[in-house]
Amino acid sequence: MLKERTLEQSLAIDKQHIWHPYTSMINPLPVYPVKSAKGVYIELEDGRQLIDGMSSWWCCIHGYSHPEMNAAITAQVEKMSHVMFGGLTHQPVISLTERLLTIVPQNLKHVFYSDSGSVSVEVAMKMAVQYQFSKGNAAKNKFATIRSGYHGDTWQAMSVCDPVTGMHNIFAGSLAWQFFAPAPQCAFGEEWNADDFISMKDLLEENKNEIAAVIVEPIVQGAGGMRFYHHQYLVELSKLCKTLDILLILDEIATGFGRTGKMFACEYAAVQPDIMTIGKAITSGYVSFAATLASEHVAMTISKGNPGVFMHGPTFMGNPLACAAAVASFDILMMSNWQDKIKAMELQMKAELAPAASFDNVKAVRVLGAIGVIEMKEAVNMAVLQAAFVQRGIWVRPFGKLVYIMPPYIIEADELRKLTKGLLAVIYPN
Ligand SMILES: *Cc1c(COP(=O)(O)O)cnc(C)c1O
Repeated sequence: MLKERTLEQSLAIDKQHIWHPYTSMINPLPVYPVKSAKGVYIELEDGRQLIDGMSSWWCCIHGYSHPEMNAAITAQVEKMSHVMFGGLTHQPVISLTERLLTIVPQNLKHVFYSDSGSVSVEVAMKMAVQYQFSKGNAAKNKFATIRSGYHGDTWQAMSVCDPVTGMHNIFAGSLAWQFFAPAPQCAFGEEWNADDFISMKDLLEENKNEIAAVIVEPIVQGAGGMRFYHHQYLVELSKLCKTLDILLILDEIATGFGRTGKMFACEYAAVQPDIMTIGKAITSGYVSFAATLASEHVAMTISKGNPGVFMHGPTFMGNPLACAAAVASFDILMMSNWQDKIKAMELQMKAELAPAASFDNVKAVRVLGAIGVIEMKEAVNMAVLQAAFVQRGIWVRPFGKLVYIMPPYIIEADELRKLTKGLLAVIYPN
């Protein structure tokens, strides 16, 4: 048995031995020890309560330690937490699949479950290549995407992340080389300018014999820049992909389950992807889980081809605990007035973040659904801002020039106000 440590000793172990996301082992950024979390509040070991502005990176849409979520996952633990998925199946995965098929674009009929968003993207990309291979198009094995995207940190996913923020220079020698069009410039809600699609159109037409699929985040580019682009871009992209026999992969990992005001962001463009990835909010932050959904056409083409089986099978595929959490999260979401709630959050954030647009260190303010973004002119000092947010009783984690919030849907108006007020006060102290 290890002996009990003081909090200071524990934090020293963390600092010396534990890698946190995107950080150094020599000069790690400070970390705040969390004791527990309940509802919209994160409680630190020193007793301070922070209002969560991040939903733990898009996940915890129903807040922390939700009684129904807890009950569902506890009940499932009593039955089984895991069984292998090769040769076995179970009620939680079937219940979840039935539910998901009622909300995803109606052409998607086949679900591949995996353990994280990045893996679901790897699976999607493999599916696209195997689809083209099955059709005798073995040379169509590259991908096209837009700059400022983010699709995860594993190898293929990384190859379609923005080359600059994705640090492609470090991995240039070993990373698959893909096709990049400029990020769309026409913003969501603005007037459509057809010129915005020209470079993607040229790129796809010129390289159609090499491209298996286009992969993009629909409407909202998340971790690659928190940008909201025009829905017509997706409409054009979907049309062109069809004529060129290029598959369209939509990565809804961040945008799915209501975050943008629609259940899935692709609904803004009424576009049906050939393959779609979902993750993050799927279990409301209870268990790491994701899925890749394929159209009938993609699944049948792969299955009729040679070897006729889809060559992937993660150890934790279809994990029952994760499925039970996802079923509970789905039911809570569908029983709630999520459209009204997110509309209210959008209106409140629009009103309360608007004053920041006139701060001389702010470049732009934008809000869509339950996502509020302040883009600064210069990169912020994360450690300094983080400490200031914590001091104000809110949890906000900026990166680069972006200070943004995407709170749990259960947040109350006065709690959201505390978040937006704190945000403005910290970025523009006077
Ligand atoms: C977070 C994210 C991923 C990666 O998901 P992980 O669960 O972190 O592997 C992929 N795509 C998008 C759009 C994301 O936001």
